[in-house]
Amino acid sequence: MSSKRKITVAYGDGIGPEIMKATIAILDAAGAQLEYDVIEIGEQVYLKGISSGMEPKAFDSLRETKVFLKSPITTPQGGGFKSLNVTTRKSFGLYANVRPCKAYSPFIKTHFPKTDLVIIRENEEDLYAGIEHRQTNEVFQCLKIISQPGSEKIIRYAFEYAKKYGRKKVTCMTKDNIMKLADGLFHKTFDEIAKEYPEIQTDHKIIDIGTALIADRPEVFDVIVTLNLYGDIISDVAAQVTGSVGLGGSANVGDEVAMFEAIHGSAPDIAGMDLANPSGLLNGAIMMLVHIGQPEIAEKISNAWMKTLEDGIHTGDIYQEGLSSKKVGTQEFAQAVIERLGQLPAKMIPAAFDKEDTKPMTIKLKPRAKSVKELTGVDVFIDWDQDGRDPNVIGEKLRQVESGGLQLHLITNRGVKVFPEGLKETFCTDHWRCRFKTADGSAVKHTQILELLKQIEDLGFDFIKTEHLYTFDGVRGYSLAQGE
Ligand code: NAD
Repeated sequence: MSSKRKITVAYGDGIGPEIMKATIAILDAAGAQLEYDVIEIGEQVYLKGISSGMEPKAFDSLRETKVFLKSPITTPQGGGFKSLNVTTRKSFGLYANVRPCKAYSPFIKTHFPKTDLVIIRENEEDLYAGIEHRQTNEVFQCLKIISQPGSEKIIRYAFEYAKKYGRKKVTCMTKDNIMKLADGLFHKTFDEIAKEYPEIQTDHKIIDIGTALIADRPEVFDVIVTLNLYGDIISDVAAQVTGSVGLGGSANVGDEVAMFEAIHGSAPDIAGMDLANPSGLLNGAIMMLVHIGQPEIAEKISNAWMKTLEDGIHTGDIYQEGLSSKKVGTQEFAQAVIERLGQLPAKMIPAAFDKEDTKPMTIKLKPRAKSVKELTGVDVFIDWDQDGRDPNVIGEKLRQVESGGLQLHLITNRGVKVFPEGLKETFCTDHWRCRFKTADGSAVKHTQILELLKQIEDLGFDFIKTEHLYTFDGVRGYSLAQGE
């Protein structure tokens, strides 16, 4: 066994210190080759006035060790505090959130005893980029950003994960029947990368039916890869239906740094009472051991933990009269796991991790040629609340505008065409998207758009934003309006 691997550890808030103490006792007893650099995070740090909840030296520790085992923290009530998880995720580029959801029936109650799925959620993009604006009196906007490299990276990660952990199928979930460009990019990239892994089955589900299936038949899924928001939602649905909310671990993985934790929070209601179940954090720590190349120890702990569950040694949250044999506290549970190190579960399938390939997964992106980009028009968004919001009034006025062949093509309100020839029934807000294009689709220059905007301002309109209409290698890079 190699020399000790230094990791960063945070004991967190609430039940955090108790479950971390129990987890570390098990790690040490199992022979994990670890050295702990303990940092302070969470409530006390927030209350010192550090809005990230992490002191600068905590970042230095993570930069050095690159592995973070983290207990839950309590986010203080009130504004001004940034989410520590989001800060860590974004600062260190932890692009993949990995959440296994497994049923441990009959020891943990679940309607779906055969469930064993892993959700791999993109962690940096989508609506979580945090780019939001209020644009008019009535309309607020949040930008959904999906990038080609971001999509490729998480999708490759999902396939590599499936390969490394002997998984058979990867399911992609998107809403590309509606978001044809953004979600379409994710789906298209999935189809492209899937061809490189012919040994793995693939399928695609629209996220709404996909979520319904997770709630109804979670056992049909193996690995699921999806965008940030959908992943956030389906992880909780899956954890809830499999009964793994209290037991689930989670990993946030980047190129350099990775963070491992339990999926539950700091449970202030039972803090300091030796009641908490340390299994969620322990399962996070097991994922960490595989990540840092100590799969034998991960396997030993996982099997001893399952044997403890089978023997009916249960903390209060999972204790069931008639099934459990002994109700134990946090530290006694840890001792029970320690006593079973070296044993295998008798009924559940023992854990088996790859002991040959112990290197962390590295994801390499495919080089891609740059497309030829051509500017062919502009959507000008206008804040307008006059003349009973009659689309024909704004439409006829904007028809007077012309610059280098750019002319009004149509106006939409909340995406629906209202001019020319809109329906009088369409409800209109104060937010108008006015599309200007050349009649023959020929290219324009930025100076023509500036001149166009000047004319729009001279007519007395308040333009609040522009979105350029590009083609890439001649392919339209914008969606058509509903009714266009
Ligand atoms: P929670 O997960 O802390 O608790 C929900 C319920 O589950 C409580 O009844 C609690 O007693 C129970 N519970 C949770 N973990 C348990 C365990 N290991 N053993 C036994 N019972 C357990 O959720 P909450 O009450 O909504 O949040 C409490 C605090 O945790 C909040 O400040 C929240 O912001 C924070 N939180 C932190 C993280 C994190 O650090 N990753 C995640 C979620 C919530």
